Amino acid sequence: MNALLLYCRAGFEKECAGEIMAWATELGVHGYVRAAEQTGWVLFQAETQDEITLITSELPFTRLIFARQWVQVAALIQGMPEGDRLTAVKAAVSQLAPRYSEIRVETPDTDVAKTRLGFCGRFTRPLTAALEKTRQLVPGASAPRLHVCFVADDAAYVGISDPANSAPWFMGIPRVRVGRDAPSRSAGKLAEALMVFLDGSNAHELKAGMRAVDLGASPGGWAWVLAQKGIRVTAVDNGPMAAAAMATEMVEHMRGDGFTYRPHHPVNWLVCDMVESPSRIAQLVAEWIARGHARHAIFNLKLPMKKRLEEVRRCEEIIAKRLEREDMSYTLQIKQLYHDREEVTLCLMRDKA
Ligand code: SAM
Repeated sequence: MNALLLYCRAGFEKECAGEIMAWATELGVHGYVRAAEQTGWVLFQAETQDEITLITSELPFTRLIFARQWVQVAALIQGMPEGDRLTAVKAAVSQLAPRYSEIRVETPDTDVAKTRLGFCGRFTRPLTAALEKTRQLVPGASAPRLHVCFVADDAAYVGISDPANSAPWFMGIPRVRVGRDAPSRSAGKLAEALMVFLDGSNAHELKAGMRAVDLGASPGGWAWVLAQKGIRVTAVDNGPMAAAAMATEMVEHMRGDGFTYRPHHPVNWLVCDMVESPSRIAQLVAEWIARGHARHAIFNLKLPMKKRLEEVRRCEEIIAKRLEREDMSYTLQIKQLYHDREEVTLCLMRDKA
């Protein structure tokens, strides 16, 4: 099919499409996108399969902001009878790759599509059995992951992803667990950010004994997540902090303005969840890092405007310009997390000298 299927948050198809089109152009691939609003997926169509392979091998998946997962599509199976969808799927997947390391039977993340999740779970079992029988399923092998994405009850895209360059989670959504006493829903957002951004060789950059400043901390979900990890937090906000956050005894509440507050001593981490214009937040965070007030930062950019992708790119520019002035090398990751609604989360880390 020479196509790439991308999953995204419903309502962000335009951003997801704009992003993949821009990257394709940069890689010299001509194509077009099929995207319908509120469907939670986008299809990028190229001329050849090699062009799709070029994109998925040259572009690190982590560079995509709005895509939760990408799948190199081999076929769209349509008109499957309700009583037997297995025969058609089995026929398609048996040709696709000699071996698979995993199977994912998924749907887009919309309320309507998710009603099929029970079916997806049930469908996985006979499909697994069929592929085990033909010795095509070899867990742990360095082989592609198989995706069967039901975009309708009788229609599914079938394709593969490279486990080394894609999201490891079912539907591209990490399962985040936060304790029941978390002060706010936002706690899940920072917990997810830590899972997504600090997942490998950089995991040691956040550990017990470190210090953090949390700008716009009330009621304290983010501060609470950091405190659970043994990090002392200065929580800056004129609003009140929840008892659960203060009960950790790791959080100091400072009433004040997050834009003017600066720490007496440098801290390891700045986190910021203030609802403000994205460019103002980008300037503030870049200033903290440029001046050495914090070494790394995790922060949110709220995107209520129409041109959301352009706004994020503008903020990237602001950060780049400020840190270039200090000749600082850094890594910036940006993702619309599962917990992010009209916003994206950024992780800005100074590279080791
Ligand atoms: N991260 C928090 C949590 O996990 O519970 C939620 C933060 S809430 C989305 C945004 C907060 O930013 C509000 O509590 C608001 O009072 C605070 N805020 C907005 N502008 C601020 C400013 N200039 N200085 C300090 N706090 C600010």
